Amino acid sequence: LNVPNNPIIPFIEGDGVGPEIWRSAKAIFDSAIAKAYQGDRKVEWQEVLAGEKSFNHSGSWLPDDTMNAFREYLIGIKGPLTTPVGGGIRSLNVALRQELDLYVCLRPVRWFNGVESPIKHPEKVNMTIFRENTEDIYAGIEWLQGTPEAEKFYQFLSQQMGVKKVRFPQTSSFGVKPVSVDGSERLIRAAINYALDNKLPSVTLVHKGNIMKFTEGGFKQWGYELAEREFASSVFTMQQFDKLKTQQGFAAANAALTAAKSAGKLIIKDVICDAFLQNTLLKPEEYSVIATLNLNGDYVSDQLAAMVGGIGIAPGANINYLTGHAIFEATHGTAPDIAGQDMANPSSLLLSGAMLFDYLGWYEVGQLINSAMEQLFQQGQATVDLARFMSNGNILTTSQFTQAVINHL
Ligand code: NAD
Repeated sequence: LNVPNNPIIPFIEGDGVGPEIWRSAKAIFDSAIAKAYQGDRKVEWQEVLAGEKSFNHSGSWLPDDTMNAFREYLIGIKGPLTTPVGGGIRSLNVALRQELDLYVCLRPVRWFNGVESPIKHPEKVNMTIFRENTEDIYAGIEWLQGTPEAEKFYQFLSQQMGVKKVRFPQTSSFGVKPVSVDGSERLIRAAINYALDNKLPSVTLVHKGNIMKFTEGGFKQWGYELAEREFASSVFTMQQFDKLKTQQGFAAANAALTAAKSAGKLIIKDVICDAFLQNTLLKPEEYSVIATLNLNGDYVSDQLAAMVGGIGIAPGANINYLTGHAIFEATHGTAPDIAGQDMANPSSLLLSGAMLFDYLGWYEVGQLINSAMEQLFQQGQATVDLARFMSNGNILTTSQFTQAVINHL
């Protein structure tokens, strides 16, 4: 990206704990930038409204001004938003993603030493999830049983398409799962480019193609074809491995795989989603970059986050690599149960900010934030959600944690 030294970056502080964690994050971001560049660079944070604050202000959950700011300035950051009940909006987050066609949901998952984990070797977890963000059953194309649309769809399936399943009563609700070649390819391309740029060992396509052969199976097949077509000289795929095995036997296939690895080639493989979830608990070191469809990605992201300390410290971003638009966000919700009590953990938003600075190419800022947090967690200094599980835990308020991070930059 071509970034000026004083970029304008719009932010939505968010609902519930949003204002507290944004206050914390902004103070840390500004200190880290000042520390890294001694005044040569500075972000001009511009508040834009969405969610409850916006609704109370203007009657709109997601005003045009907010969308226009994200469109104009390309990059933004947001706290959590309350999902409005009724009013025709399913979710503000989904609306933002769709408006800007942010087709990648990027979730890096790594463990900070000191943070309690439910698995034995959390230090082996180092993955980056590329979740397709616009398609799949998540597209929200569904009809409630008993409505004329559901009835029409039933007639269409049963009469015109000849669908005769054992259990297929007229009183069904229906959902549609669209998965396109283009949508799958742009996601998988982004994952492969990321893995190559960061010199990572593998990209794993996670799917349920054994059951949903044309949608999830298509995702896998198109992924392999794309890898072999567009990245021929820098990858080796397990599809090539299987082909060699059939033609020349296992030893030849294995020799080719070993040669590809020692030549530093990126390995493209695939795994069925349920097996993947099990494997991540048993042998997480086998996975690096993950590319997957929308619904699988949702489950996978939360399980992996839980393995390294929970969504309170899991960062995320929604990105369109073609236009450059990106919104970085805290991945947890508004935590209404603890809002206004100076006890929320700002780490998810902080690490999302670190990703934002990496995206800008301001790598020093992200490094400062990550290493300050690492030092604090090792010393057991954390907000209550994490500190209560640490053997050396010392519970800090949000304000105290913020000051401690700034002191350790
Ligand atoms: P939640 O993530 O708000 O809370 C789940 C639990 O995690 C709560 O016990 C909460 O106290 C805790 N928690 C969450 N964030 C924390 C933090 N930063 N520090 C310490 N503890 C934290 O999920 P929910 O209760 O299911 O949802 C509440 C609201 O948030 C709903 O309106 C929901 O739609 C919305 N939501 C928004 C987003 C988003 O904007 N990205 C994501 C999920 C949920």
